[in-house]
Amino acid sequence: MDTTLFSLWKSIFTTLASYGNQGTRGMERLSWSEEFMKAQHTLMEMTQKEGLASEIDAMGNLWVTLEGTDKSLPPLYIGSHVDTVPSGGAFDGALGITSALAILIHWKRTGFAPRRTVHAIGFAEEEGTRFGLCCLGSQAISGELKDRDPESIQKGGKSLAQWLREAGLSGNPFQPRLDAKGAFLEFHIEQGGTLEADGLPLGIVSAIVGIDRFIVTVTGQANHAGTTEMKLRHDALAAASDSIVALYKRALAHNRKYVATVGELTVTPGAANVIPGKVVFTLELRSETLATMEAAMAAFRQEMGRVEKTYGVSASIEKLDRIDPVPMNDHLMEIFEKAAEKEQVPYEKMPSWAGHDAMIMGRHLPTAMLFVPSIGGISHSPKESTDDDAIKKALSVLESAMRSLGEGA
Ligand SMILES: [Zn+2]
Repeated sequence: MDTTLFSLWKSIFTTLASYGNQGTRGMERLSWSEEFMKAQHTLMEMTQKEGLASEIDAMGNLWVTLEGTDKSLPPLYIGSHVDTVPSGGAFDGALGITSALAILIHWKRTGFAPRRTVHAIGFAEEEGTRFGLCCLGSQAISGELKDRDPESIQKGGKSLAQWLREAGLSGNPFQPRLDAKGAFLEFHIEQGGTLEADGLPLGIVSAIVGIDRFIVTVTGQANHAGTTEMKLRHDALAAASDSIVALYKRALAHNRKYVATVGELTVTPGAANVIPGKVVFTLELRSETLATMEAAMAAFRQEMGRVEKTYGVSASIEKLDRIDPVPMNDHLMEIFEKAAEKEQVPYEKMPSWAGHDAMIMGRHLPTAMLFVPSIGGISHSPKESTDDDAIKKALSVLESAMRSLGEGA
């Protein structure tokens, strides 16, 4: 295991963590804020001093490039986001970009010149805190925003164009920049508790799960909570609750295959002495396959039919949104597996249950991701942390995989 690479990573990570550090309130490096831009400039200057070509693009993404020796080969991209959520942790995003930079600097210092050009990218606005739109930095470089006007993306009376101007950025922020023949890697914390529960230091991501969202409306009959005897009720909340418990139990029986969540529920009229006449709730499903999500929804519809009869209510289900799962690239996963075997790091293959820049990049380029455990499964919190030993192991796997890819694998 290369301790030089680990110490180099640690020093870059510590530098980045000094921007937006709110002490016990965690890290706050919101995109295009003063702290965010200072962090991007510091990383740019640090890598330029090492002889790497670096720039900040018109969207605020950081690009650090190590030129390859064979220009006929497509580039390798590796990166993660520099922005955080409010009161976030030090590792989310930061781990991936600082590791990528550490590897490029380490290669430069030790005189290793890859055949492929390698671009490390520190993405802006992955978290979606500014406009409720996630992964804007990766969407911009991949061309997904090329027909949009940065003035038209707005929240609270402030447009993206204005944020960019105030951050001192100019030019077309939505200029596509990716070579579609290239490949993308992202190294990230798991943000869940699976690796820890399994006692493993490394995860190789098989897919980024898809998301289906629905609105369910259950209509019963509002009535007097005292004078209406139990047998004569059409209680919309009792019915909704029954369906939610059924949803929960089925998902529990299919643990790790899919997750199902009711995160928002409104009861009408909403008074202690009135039987609920109407309940509206959100239903969200996530899985690596659409077939699993569709089977879960079919089972829920069936339960809803039972509930309608049992409680004398009627229900309607409206689909709000679907984000397709993004499978990771087999060849890249295999390179990660070989690197893990070579470095003798035990691992498991697992889906990513959260979205990442790799989800956007994976729509355009062969993409793969590595995970390290999150202590206690905690993320988006000042308590977010990962063990040094797991990071050391993952860095050795990542560096080894990047070396193979850099050599043209
Ligand atoms: Zn993240």
